[in-house]
Amino acid sequence: MTQTATIQAVCPECEAQLNFDRRPFKGQVTHCTDCSAELEVIEREPLLMELAPEVEEDWGE
Ligand SMILES: [Zn+2]
Repeated sequence: MTQTATIQAVCPECEAQLNFDRRPFKGQVTHCTDCSAELEVIEREPLLMELAPEVEEDWGE
């Protein structure tokens, strides 16, 4: 049995349709293929994306 339903979400930044072959997990960060915005999965069903907050990679102690 082959289930190849494409998972789709909409970019909150540019409203481009994003396709996933596998349902991403909550908290996963991905990039919009259109505007390159960094997006975080905030809900899996239905799939909802939100702009990921900009994190500075500064782990200064
Ligand atoms: Zn976008």
